[in-house]
Amino acid sequence: MRTLYRGGRVFDGAGKSLDGHGVLVEDKHIRRVAPLAEFEGFSDKTVDTSGGTLMPGVIDTHLHLLLTGGPDQLGPLATLSPIALGLGALKHAQDALMGGVTSVRDVGGKDFIEMQVRDAINRGDFIGPTIQCSGHIICITGGHAYRIGRQADGPEEIRKAVREQLRGGADLIKVMATGGMSSAGSDPGASQFLPEEINAAVAEAQRWGKATAAHAHGRDGVMNAVNAGITSIEHGAFIDEQCIEAMLKKGVFLVPTLSVSHWTEQNMKRGTIPQFIIDNTMKTRELRTKNFRAFYEAGGKIAMGTDGGTQYNYHCLSAYELALMVDYGMKPVDALVAGNAAAAELMRMPDRGKIAEGCFADLLVVDGDPTVDILSAALAERHRLVVKNGVEAKRRA
Ligand SMILES: [Zn+2]
Repeated sequence: MRTLYRGGRVFDGAGKSLDGHGVLVEDKHIRRVAPLAEFEGFSDKTVDTSGGTLMPGVIDTHLHLLLTGGPDQLGPLATLSPIALGLGALKHAQDALMGGVTSVRDVGGKDFIEMQVRDAINRGDFIGPTIQCSGHIICITGGHAYRIGRQADGPEEIRKAVREQLRGGADLIKVMATGGMSSAGSDPGASQFLPEEINAAVAEAQRWGKATAAHAHGRDGVMNAVNAGITSIEHGAFIDEQCIEAMLKKGVFLVPTLSVSHWTEQNMKRGTIPQFIIDNTMKTRELRTKNFRAFYEAGGKIAMGTDGGTQYNYHCLSAYELALMVDYGMKPVDALVAGNAAAAELMRMPDRGKIAEGCFADLLVVDGDPTVDILSAALAERHRLVVKNGVEAKRRA
């Protein structure tokens, strides 16, 4: 099965726009990207992208498939049966795909349920995005999000906790390096794991060839994670100059998850979000914005992530994070790269996140040009077509 996409612009996912080019997809892969003249006389299926842009599907490197987006973040995890949670996770994965997201990274689940969703989609039982999973988050006893985490203290127990996640099928390991905004009584600025503990987690994951992600806001926790050799810092609200310098030097990604505070602010008047989450969100607003901008302007590596599933942060809205990154000061083209090639790099998927020969055909056709107006990619109603592994997943009526 061969399909030629032609007529509109092509955004390659890595920062370049092409005019007058055709993109030939054969089965699951992009076979050829070349000037239109080369495809003269092509007689198989053609998709006309005139007036729009063909780009890679968006990649969300931080979400939670088991979480619903309801105001009580962790409630459903405690009350729903494993089957209900699994069906919910499958629906959330498909919601993300319908929103233009073709790959996701789940950084905190429960009982390895989300991995069964990953495997069912991989087997071809259901259509859905490519999924990577961390299994349970690993945290200190009573630490941030301990209700869903594997609590572990001391290097030895932490090594065991890492091995448990890998036995369960983890693609990466997620640790809580600091407190968080959404745990009552937790100070997001304070470090949680000790340096020797986080060193043990990262070293064990590296021994198995796995990437590591650290939830971290405050400076000490960020530095502990970066010194340990962490792959990405998640959130990073309070990263200062020292953190930025260290992250740049070691090539550590920042996954800013701007959606969390945005959707909290948008919905805080409903009276359903716990007050301490609203307070944490509002009092850190200015500093978070400033730090994100400083990291971006210093040339740090940014990958798109939403923390989807947290309060009012619905999986179908993932791509809106692109617009928020632009609101916070990124150029549209850089925000797009953060949601395409850079996100794929973080997830160690060299064959996704780009329109290039040999890559998987994870595609999005949008109205207009998202490098000029980011909303073309950020709003699902402006998506004409979503393609996953060469198969049409959604076509706008
Ligand atoms: Zn999260």
